[in-house]
Amino acid sequence: MTRTAVICSEELWQRGHGESHPLKPERLQRAYELLTAYGAFDGEQSRLMPLRLATTDELLLFHTKEYLNAVRSLSRGERECTPSRYNFGPGDNPVFEGMYETAALKVGAALVAAESVTTGKVDVAFSLAGGMHHARPHYASGFCIFNDIAVIIHTLLRQGLKVAYVDIDVHHGDGVQEAFYDNDRVLTISIHESGYFIFPGTGFVTETGEGVGQGFAVNLPLAPYTDDEVYVWAFEQVVPPLLKWFEPDIVVSQLGIDTHYLDPLAHLALTTEGYTEVVRTIKELAPRWIALGGGGYEVGVMPRAWTLAYGIMSNREFPDELPFAYTEKYGPGTLRDQRKPHLDARSKDVARRHASLAISELKEKIAGLRA
Ligand SMILES: [Zn+2]
Repeated sequence: MTRTAVICSEELWQRGHGESHPLKPERLQRAYELLTAYGAFDGEQSRLMPLRLATTDELLLFHTKEYLNAVRSLSRGERECTPSRYNFGPGDNPVFEGMYETAALKVGAALVAAESVTTGKVDVAFSLAGGMHHARPHYASGFCIFNDIAVIIHTLLRQGLKVAYVDIDVHHGDGVQEAFYDNDRVLTISIHESGYFIFPGTGFVTETGEGVGQGFAVNLPLAPYTDDEVYVWAFEQVVPPLLKWFEPDIVVSQLGIDTHYLDPLAHLALTTEGYTEVVRTIKELAPRWIALGGGGYEVGVMPRAWTLAYGIMSNREFPDELPFAYTEKYGPGTLRDQRKPHLDARSKDVARRHASLAISELKEKIAGLRA
């Protein structure tokens, strides 16, 4: 029997980056409402856990004091510091009132998830608002202010645990990779759309770690229009063998669903079928599992994908018909995608060849490093 928890509360969607920003707080509200409508938290084995603010000391595990002070001051509307110095400004990372608290709550949620798993309260915990994988110690990046993932991995390392990080967001998990680039106790694996086509422009096969961490950073870049079939095949080639070799004590995963064919920010072509297949594989491989949300900017997709992911975590098969409490508010639909994107033969072929080439290169690189 798997005991599971979702960490979420409505404080998370009270404030946000602004109306026109893709990281809409409504995404989280919808995911929470869909899970609730399905009765996902009914029963003794599954619970909904409240979150808390991360403390300054916890944020300092990864972020610099100067950056924390700057975010705090900008968040209050003070004008002593220059936003652009910390990569804030119009565009990806706008300054908004209360952003310190919002970002610190996301880290707090991840910490609650990590604590509930490491103390044995649950086997799997899912922080819906987490997965801020681009944030750096001293600046914001790609919608991410504080890096909840890097902070919790630091707490896990302090407990002597060996951590495997699996990032299936469509964007490269650059902030987390960089945080543990020279560390052999953290294996980071990121599968994403190639940096040739999309932000942040990194995550190539050649990035493998440095010093003792050489060989402990793994990247699998994919071409636009990669679909379920190619993605699942590529994932299976890379993730299970590496996790079996590394034998982590705990798995941390970023479960972004911006790989979906309807996502407005990226160009992969997954459906909920391919997505759930890899989530299922992560579950099979993880001795203990801390799952974090991540990207996914189509509001009709993300709540369904994360509900399906939580179904896998908690061994529940939710019916395909969306509950009335949800459809009444958001309109009709089904939990699983009923359609596949239409891709022409050439795009499919390019995606397949790109994946296959990246995997051969990766295997060669890894074998070389371990020889
Ligand atoms: Zn993303």
